Amino acid sequence: MVKIFYDKDADLDVLKDKTIAVIGYGSQGGGQAQNLHDSGLDVVVGVREGGESWNQAKNDGLAVMTVAEAAKKGDLIQMLVPDEIQSAVYYSEIAPHMSEGKTLCFSHGFNIHYNQIVPPKDVNVIMVAPKGPGFLVRRTYTEGIGVPALLAIYQDASGNARDIGMAYAKGIGATRAGVLETTFREETETDLFGEQVDLCGGATALMKASFETLVAAGYQPEIAYFETFHEMKLIIDLIHEGGLSKMWYYVSNTAEYGGLTVGPKVINEQSRQAMKEALRRIQSGEFAKEFVLESRANRPVLNALERQENEHQVEKVGKELRAMMPWLKKD
Ligand code: NDP
Ligand code: MG
Repeated sequence: MVKIFYDKDADLDVLKDKTIAVIGYGSQGGGQAQNLHDSGLDVVVGVREGGESWNQAKNDGLAVMTVAEAAKKGDLIQMLVPDEIQSAVYYSEIAPHMSEGKTLCFSHGFNIHYNQIVPPKDVNVIMVAPKGPGFLVRRTYTEGIGVPALLAIYQDASGNARDIGMAYAKGIGATRAGVLETTFREETETDLFGEQVDLCGGATALMKASFETLVAAGYQPEIAYFETFHEMKLIIDLIHEGGLSKMWYYVSNTAEYGGLTVGPKVINEQSRQAMKEALRRIQSGEFAKEFVLESRANRPVLNALERQENEHQVEKVGKELRAMMPWLKKD
């Protein structure tokens, strides 16, 4: 069983006389910086002048400065700009200030694991990665709970990198929920695998393929939408709350028998081979290289795929049907 760490395992005093520079004030930056500040730590936010985040962080009552100024002030520098621009931001504004004994922190291991950022040997390199979006990191903190997080140590130059990571996790409220230890490699590869094969890629491909199958067979797209898209959330919510057993308990016996016997025929040996191939491309660095080059080329493929996705019939049908369900807007 994996060991889980809580509030009592972390000492906030480790960061007491330190300055934390949160670079970027988007989803994670906003949530983490505000929580650290409310935990009584000294936080500065580094963002670009004139950007949206600059005013946002200011309005939230935080000290705002350029990325370079924040990196200079910070003893711990938390990298929370989008992954594909971290390397450029690091080398142009942060690297000159990565002096001995400082700590460079991430919430995702991509840039370290795939060598897009190679920090000097005499600094700590750690990861504190909340397992939830930034707004939830913030909301749960104000509610006195917290979002679980992963902790990883890549370089321990000061000898207490782990204590620093645990203190940071406590500052954002993660130790209230629980902190699990991992490595940069494990976090990066499993995170990419999950989002490609299961959460973002696999789930949407499954939903689109089943929608298209029904529509091609002559069924009304509106009916197909309800069956293949709308109801997905109800099923996932049940699994989220009580595992597979709760879901199977709540659906009809017809759904349970059909689901258990037919599901494995759809996600079959061929699908498992495709999963293994996706994992192989993640482990070999091929996916990382492709994505880094795609970003550097100004995202020609990603833009085209986004456009095609927006033009998919299910988007038009779904929009009309969701307008009939005003209660969906609540979230
Ligand atoms: P966001 O896309 O929300 O970050 C946006 C921030 O980056 C804004 O403050 C923006 O400033 C700034 N920014 C964008 N471009 C630049 C630039 N060229 N120079 C300086 N600042 C820039 O990022 P996320 O919070 O989604 O992700 C941050 C990290 O957290 C990533 O490593 C990600 O993998 C990780 N993570 C994210 C999770 C999530 O739920 N989103 C969950 C767990 C980890 P401006 O307003 O000026 O544009
Ligand atoms: Mg991810």
